[in-house]
Amino acid sequence: MRKISNILLNCWFPRVCSSCNRSLTIQEEGLCFYCQQYLHVTNHFHRKNNVLYLQLGYRMNIHSVQSLYFFQPKSIEQRAIHELKYKKNMQVGNFFGKEIGKRIASAPWLQDVDFIVPIPIHINKERERGYNQAQVLCEGISAETKLPILKILSKRTSGKGATKGNRMERMNSRKIDFQLQGSIPSSIQHLLIVDDVITTGATLESAFNEIRKQFNGKISVVSIAHTF
Ligand SMILES: [Zn+2]
Repeated sequence: MRKISNILLNCWFPRVCSSCNRSLTIQEEGLCFYCQQYLHVTNHFHRKNNVLYLQLGYRMNIHSVQSLYFFQPKSIEQRAIHELKYKKNMQVGNFFGKEIGKRIASAPWLQDVDFIVPIPIHINKERERGYNQAQVLCEGISAETKLPILKILSKRTSGKGATKGNRMERMNSRKIDFQLQGSIPSSIQHLLIVDDVITTGATLESAFNEIRKQFNGKISVVSIAHTF
């Protein structure tokens, strides 16, 4: 039922650029080609030892971590991600998912990924929004790579909106608590966690630690953007 309503939501949404509002051509999805030129693309999918890996790798034993874009305030990526998270714009989520998928296909260290795992949002937030944005990204990635989606995490608390204060204050102001649903098959060697934006890394660390309770294989991470 939710799948059907998501499809309707996607079809109903006007086909305009999520940044400049221009009508999209049949070849464009979510963002027009003009705006796509101005995204702040990273080199993460070409370089395993990238800046994000160097920042997060010492906190958790991840195999790799990569974002598509550096998150810049008032940028095209910021407007597009806002549309995905708060304006029910799933088209731009599909676009980002497919862009991530194309890069996964060319990164040698991601060729043995078995499943992609969306970071969940609280069920109340998902009902209100109509979808989980990380699930939309996973569907875009899957369309490009044929990788199957494994929904093994649920979120137990809604947390507080961490928008004020410095990074440490924001980290301490909310309690992120994920829970594994069921068991992870022993045949799985490499899981790829999918998140929208990496800010403090606290959400990721919490999800990572929960998966690690049951899984000793490789864990990698992809996201649309990162803020540091
Ligand atoms: Zn545009």
